[in-house]
Amino acid sequence: MEIEPRVQFDDTSTAFSYKSDRQLKKANFIFTVVNNPAISAIATTLAKYALKLHLPFVKTVIRNTIFEHFCGGETIEESQTTIVTLKKFNVGTILDYSVEGAKTEDGFDETTREIIRTIEKAKGNPAIPFCVFKVTGMADTPVLVKKNSKETLTTEETVAFEKVRARVDQICSKAHEYNVRVLVDAEETWIQDPIDDLAYEMMKKYNQQTAIVFNTFQMYRKDMSTKLRDAYQDSVRDNYYLGVKLVRGAYMEKEAARAEKSGYDNPIHASKEDTDKAFNKGLTFCLDNKRRISLMCGSHNDYSNKFLTVLMDKHGLKPNDSHVWFGQLLGMSDHISFNLSKAGYNVAKYVPYGPVRAVMPYLIRRAQENTSVAGQSSRELQLIRKELRRRNKG
Ligand SMILES: Cc1cc2nc3c(=O)[nH]c(=O)nc-3n(C[C@H](O)[C@H](O)[C@H](O)COP(=O)(O)OP(=O)(O)OC[C@H]3O[C@@H](n4cnc5c(N)ncnc54)[C@H](O)[C@@H]3O)c2cc1C
Repeated sequence: MEIEPRVQFDDTSTAFSYKSDRQLKKANFIFTVVNNPAISAIATTLAKYALKLHLPFVKTVIRNTIFEHFCGGETIEESQTTIVTLKKFNVGTILDYSVEGAKTEDGFDETTREIIRTIEKAKGNPAIPFCVFKVTGMADTPVLVKKNSKETLTTEETVAFEKVRARVDQICSKAHEYNVRVLVDAEETWIQDPIDDLAYEMMKKYNQQTAIVFNTFQMYRKDMSTKLRDAYQDSVRDNYYLGVKLVRGAYMEKEAARAEKSGYDNPIHASKEDTDKAFNKGLTFCLDNKRRISLMCGSHNDYSNKFLTVLMDKHGLKPNDSHVWFGQLLGMSDHISFNLSKAGYNVAKYVPYGPVRAVMPYLIRRAQENTSVAGQSSRELQLIRKELRRRNKG
């Protein structure tokens, strides 16, 4: 559908105004490397082994390049410079403790404490409008898989799951006490049902006055439009506010591979167009029900972000209406984030942080996402080069 957007995203001077010439040249170097499939594959493999061997030189190189571009720092304190810089341009920070792979009860408890530290940091702080967590950071995945498949848990597993519930409750109760919105990230279909159940349990408890807890809806799933409608109807029936983070979904290849291996229907839409349609319909549904739904649109898609500005206008919402937010990842789609914030919209970026070694899986995913397809430069690289040319630095 043709739309008359309320904001344009082609202004690279606004998009990269927060980057010095030196930082922009560094971004050009990083994206040029990751854009090349062969170099990118070699670099990520070497980096993984070198980090395993504890080679300090490699850690320094990663820290000063790709880590610096995509992450706030190794700790909340180190992320402060990024938080302040984004805030200068009216872009909020969502502190994302990106340490993956905790496997022990102590590890899950430590992750829970760290998420609570992000909520304490966000308390009364307009620079940090949301916090976020992944349930897999505080739960044993096999227990989630079993719970998802509706198998009966052993006594031990039941105890373990109750601990997960207690951790999630601790986080959401602190978020409620401090009036900080908290996003629950969505993960793979084979563990998502218990994550959803926990999110709705928390919403019922803590979303009585306003949306504090937001669940994530992955619109690449064939069943997700129905799930969104059902979630809305449940919130009407039980009288609470529904926090919705709408995304397309990040685990497409994994989902397809598992479905094929296990012989069930792939739960993901058959085409990108179907996902796009479902996503944009999801935006429409949220705004049609804006009196109960608060929305975070987590997307790097130009059209969907523009479409949401048009919907807001149609519904008579001001750009800074507190119920509608736009979200992107640090180091990506700055042309969307900074042009939206300049036009007065509410924007926040995930700012991942954690020890360099622990955030490597996150960094590798970002590198893979920006590797060229069919020899073309990634969109990020094209935009960076356009801005360098504009600054006469290219
Ligand atoms: C702030 C923020 C928070 C996020 N939180 C989560 C989260 O909690 N859980 C999560 O899973 N993801 C999350 N994501 C990632 C998100 O799901 C997408 O993977 C990513 O943003 C790319 O989608 P896009 O909307 O930016 O746009 P685009 O780049 O236009 O779309 C790419 C997406 O379209 C879909 N797609 C691509 N090809 C096909 C195809 N052939 N058939 C069907 N669908 C296809 C896939 O979902 C793919 O990721 C988040 C992203 C952001 C920006």
